[in-house]
Amino acid sequence: MKKKVIIIGSGFSSLSTSCYLAKAGFDVSIYEKNLDFGGRARQFKENGFTFDMGPSWYWMPDVFERFFNDFNKRSSDLYEIKKLNPAYRVIFDNETHLKIGDSIDEIVDSFEKIEKGSGKKLIKFLNESKKNYELAVTNMLYKMPGKSIFELINSQTISKINLFITNIKSQINKIFKDQKLRSVLQFPVLFLGAKPSETPAFYNFMNYADFGLGTWQPKNGFYDVVQSMIKIAKENGVKFYNNSPVDKIIVKDNTVSGIIVKKSIIECDILISGADYSHTEQLLDKKYRQYSEKYWSKRTWAPSSLLFYIGLDKKINDLDHHNLFFDTDFDKHADEIYTKPKWPESPLFYLNITSKTFKHTAPKNCENLFILVPIATNLEDTDEIREKYFDLVIRRIEKTTNENIKSHIIFKKSYCVKDFKSDYNSFGGNAYGLANTLTQTAFLRPKLKSKKVKKLYFSGQLTVPGPGVPPAIVSGKLVSDLIINDEVNF
Ligand SMILES: Cc1cc2nc3c(=O)[nH]c(=O)nc-3n(C[C@H](O)[C@H](O)[C@H](O)COP(=O)(O)OP(=O)(O)OC[C@H]3O[C@@H](n4cnc5c(N)ncnc54)[C@H](O)[C@@H]3O)c2cc1C
Repeated sequence: MKKKVIIIGSGFSSLSTSCYLAKAGFDVSIYEKNLDFGGRARQFKENGFTFDMGPSWYWMPDVFERFFNDFNKRSSDLYEIKKLNPAYRVIFDNETHLKIGDSIDEIVDSFEKIEKGSGKKLIKFLNESKKNYELAVTNMLYKMPGKSIFELINSQTISKINLFITNIKSQINKIFKDQKLRSVLQFPVLFLGAKPSETPAFYNFMNYADFGLGTWQPKNGFYDVVQSMIKIAKENGVKFYNNSPVDKIIVKDNTVSGIIVKKSIIECDILISGADYSHTEQLLDKKYRQYSEKYWSKRTWAPSSLLFYIGLDKKINDLDHHNLFFDTDFDKHADEIYTKPKWPESPLFYLNITSKTFKHTAPKNCENLFILVPIATNLEDTDEIREKYFDLVIRRIEKTTNENIKSHIIFKKSYCVKDFKSDYNSFGGNAYGLANTLTQTAFLRPKLKSKKVKKLYFSGQLTVPGPGVPPAIVSGKLVSDLIINDEVNF
């Protein structure tokens, strides 16, 4: 008889795990608390507008491709995707907008116009960044379940030890003089959830992911990826249960025996949780938890976010698909997230408009706006505060575009700390898990396999490799490899 596997949650890591384990012959079921599957990458449609609720930057297409190839498919069999040009626009002030093109040559030209000689330096920097990408992502990532320090040590990483000691901010500042170029090159590591000054320079492979591999957009939004993974899971026999919050994990003789959902006991042989790790441990009796409340509160968390989903009854001319409003002080905002957590005085923010690329994601002559303001976790979250920041960001967009936005809003929804907590059981309302700092990298992250309870495993952005959609997909592969090794090959 097939071994019965239960997976808590339906985010990218859970979907990935479910596909690999079902393919390996396990009987897999997913229990998701929300009505919709996809976790932080859910999508909603309202009045003809389509909004991805979370991820919008499709980076590292090779990781998506590798996943689909494992199931004898290509992404192009499942969804249409377009490489964006410009990849994104960075707004420094009303007059200074930098458009990042879709090839290194174009980007080098743009750099050269801002700082003479920077083009050559960029090519050299990206050569190193590409080598690090090939080492870290192509070769090491899939072999690093975070069990020991030795996964990190090999002749190539030892020769790069200085990149683990230096941080990426100081590396970039040494090479480039212009503050605008420095900010653009520091932007990619924000996906790792920590300040550039706290992120090892080795992570400059994210710059190759950005400039070298490009920014892509699936036709119907990021949710195309979720739906494709669900399709593969179902083809392999995975069963899906929505509106099914797991309230308790049952342990007998130090071994998982099942879960409780709405007072019903559901038995299993193996349990994997793709829900936030900190929450999953709360579902266990105290003696079975590996990490204390103090441990979680001392971690460096990736930021939370204040989000706005907005429908406009007109088109906006002077903006692109991805727009970064870097028109205020980067370091000050970073301090307000990490060092002295508080609502930022004058935040940087990000504006995404998918209808710029795929018109059908908004009604005719309309535009769908997704605004993200990064903030510290656990901040007070009230309607008044949300409204204050809404006015602030809309004024900045109006100033930049020289267009009236506010009076053209026909749909508006906000999302913040309280929603992250109630929708995803997220610690402190974090948006994307635990940051990848030096002390929270690889074997120093929470473990994929419980040390206290047999047959209990974890996946997702709080484990290895870390935050973001590609790492979540890899996390699912790593945990399923561990289980296949423990159950089948032992
Ligand atoms: C606003 C935002 C923007 C982002 N932008 C990007 C981006 O542009 N590019 C990128 O690559 N990444 C981005 N990310 C990060 C990325 O979305 C996440 O890292 C990834 O989706 C996390 O997947 P996961 O599998 O770890 O977990 P999640 O997506 O968090 O899934 C966990 C699931 O578990 C469920 N759950 C929780 N508790 C229970 C319970 N008790 N019982 C049953 N189910 C439960 C939750 O409802 C949820 O569905 C963004 C995230 C956010 C929030």
